[in-house]
Parts: sequence; structure tokens; C-alpha cells
Amino acid sequence: MNETRVSGVLVRHHHPLSDIAANNLRSTIRIIPAPHLRHIRQIDVLPPLNFGSNPNYAGGGSGVGHPRLSELCFDRRHRDNNFPYNMTLLHEVGHIIDHAYNALDSLTPEHRNTINQVPIPRGAVTHGRGEHYAIAYQTLLTGGASPAVRAALLSGNAFSGVDLVHP
Ligand SMILES: [Zn+2]
Repeated sequence: MNETRVSGVLVRHHHPLSDIAANNLRSTIRIIPAPHLRHIRQIDVLPPLNFGSNPNYAGGGSGVGHPRLSELCFDRRHRDNNFPYNMTLLHEVGHIIDHAYNALDSLTPEHRNTINQVPIPRGAVTHGRGEHYAIAYQTLLTGGASPAVRAALLSGNAFSGVDLVHP
């Protein structure tokens, strides 16, 4: 694996990192709150074949404690919604932050209910019970969360004292 630092974050990659990918990672890392970035020890960018069951899967995974992204997630034809911000990366970071802060469980029942009602897109490859939180997280960081979702996330301990780039 090759290693590159992008905005201070270690990125390990199998193939050379394209300018498109590096720029996309840079603009996305810029909107991740600094306290959250400390939980991201590395990002792996892997060939699609590493995502076994479905090589067309343009997404990622975070079950190993850090985000894993398919090279396809930087391909506009596959993932137009990953520009300018890589929603796949933000989603995986959301899972890691949920886990690191026990974030969803830190919410009041009312706020937790709000998050659990965030719709999961059709055709999404789901990752279990934290899925709604990860989707809410990516939406909040890119400025697209509803007022209720925003209030719910910000009330949790993952966002205590955290400044957002998109207020
Ligand atoms: Zn997920």
C-alpha cells in the first residue's frame, strides 16, 4: 500500500491517488470537525474488487475502525453525489463517531427517535442499527439536515463544543 497525507490524514492507497481523489478528500476532510478527525487514524482507498460481494459497490466500510473507500467512489459517473463532498467518506466517519462517542445512545429518546426516522436511501447497503445516524451525520456536515435532525445531532455528546463549517 502507498501512503499519502491529505490535510494531515493518513491515506493508504493501492493505486496512485488521482488529483480528483486527492482534491475530493481534501475538501471533504475540511468540513469534518477537528475533534472528530482525531478518531480517523487512516483512510484506505481500495480497488473495487476488495469490496467482495459487489465490485460495483462504490461505497465504503468502517467495520475495521477506519474508513475504507472503493476507488469507484471518486468516479463521477458512479457517484455524482460525492462531489464536492464525499458523502461516502462522511457516512463512514459518521459510523465511527457514533461508535467513539456512543453518540446515538447519548440522545434523549425524542431526539433518538428523530434520528431513527431519517430515511435510508433505496438501494443503500446498510450497516445495521447505526445507519440512520451515519446518514444524518453526512447530511449535517454538508448543511442539508432538517432543523429537527440538526437539533437532535447537536444535542448529543459527539457535538458538544464542536464548531461546524456549515452552520
Ligand atoms: Zn452505513
